Amino acid sequence: MNNITMVDLKGQYQNIKSEIDAAIEQVIESAGFINGPVVSEFTNELENYLGVKNVIPCGNGTDALQLALMASGLKPGDEVITSDFTFIATAETIAILGIKPRLVDVNPDNFLIDPDEIEKAISSKTRAIIPVHLYGQSANMEAILAIAKKNGLLVIEDTAQAMGTDYLFESGTKKKAGTLGNIGCTSFFPSKNLGAFGDAGAIFTDDDGLAEKLRYLVNHGMKKRYYHDYIGVNSRLDSIQAAILKVKLKYLDSYNLSRQKAAVAYDAAFAGENKLQVPVRVPWSSHIFHQYTLICKDTDRNMLIKELNKRSVPAMIYYPVPLHKQKAYADNSYSADDFQNSNMLSDSVISLPMHTELKDDQIDYISTNLLEIIQKNK
Ligand SMILES: *Cc1c(COP(=O)(O)O)cnc(C)c1O
Repeated sequence: MNNITMVDLKGQYQNIKSEIDAAIEQVIESAGFINGPVVSEFTNELENYLGVKNVIPCGNGTDALQLALMASGLKPGDEVITSDFTFIATAETIAILGIKPRLVDVNPDNFLIDPDEIEKAISSKTRAIIPVHLYGQSANMEAILAIAKKNGLLVIEDTAQAMGTDYLFESGTKKKAGTLGNIGCTSFFPSKNLGAFGDAGAIFTDDDGLAEKLRYLVNHGMKKRYYHDYIGVNSRLDSIQAAILKVKLKYLDSYNLSRQKAAVAYDAAFAGENKLQVPVRVPWSSHIFHQYTLICKDTDRNMLIKELNKRSVPAMIYYPVPLHKQKAYADNSYSADDFQNSNMLSDSVISLPMHTELKDDQIDYISTNLLEIIQKNK
């Protein structure tokens, strides 16, 4: 059995090495490192894959979120509602623009932002909602879009963990997560489901006006060379990353399928253990398992991780501190009661190794050992 790792980017690369190496070499030989033709080739292919009119590539997922807010014309003093249980970038990009992140609690079973809590948090200053499609499942977008419509709010989707996730409308139609709101943002950080070999990200929108503005904003607000109509940033997808992503996009669905198979195997192993709650599948979304995250019930989560590590099984906590408890985001208008679920989850979640190269014997080793540790400590 190979060493068990949280992600296995080396193994994934070995399986497509010749294709990737050729794609990188082509960029190097062309010397078109910035805005080479492969950037628009990848962008067009991603538009087709997602079924969205415009993909604007950029430097990383954090920039994608910041650019989405900048393009939306939000101003200091405005408020944006987002999840208390997410990676910091979601709230950071709001705060850095002088906008107030208004954090709300999540559902205790599916980890996703709770539409009822969004509705309660709306004030006269609220301008937008950023739902996060955490761990690979979409937030309840039909409910969120209805709230946004009723209150005249923008919806910016944080799709960093949900590249390829299908949203299933009640009517039966399907759309890719990230293409339902006004703007979708994603990250191609190496360990994401569609990962580059460095930092990379993208913004999606069906709104041609917003897309045009975003294309200027990512490149110094420049409409015509050296004429700056907007205050922009430098956040481009470089050609080498685009070439790698173009190869890997072809494999995204099969990669997501491997993750789903691994998740089903984990589920089966943990089915009889009431101290572990396996990931709940919501009816409105597919799950592409960016993370396989369990909720530990009445058991010492940190002890489980320590014991797993002793048996050479890595495990991680995404995320150990909810955003409202982060020093930089302290806000005395919140009370602990506002975040019962994110507080509970940050104390009890555990994410197991999850990647495209995970083998049956590894899943078996991980789950057998975790169950054994729980049994021993009952
Ligand atoms: C990874 C991630 C981001 C940030 O993406 P980077 O490319 O690392 O900047 C934002 N939001 C969520 C939920 C993420 O998981």
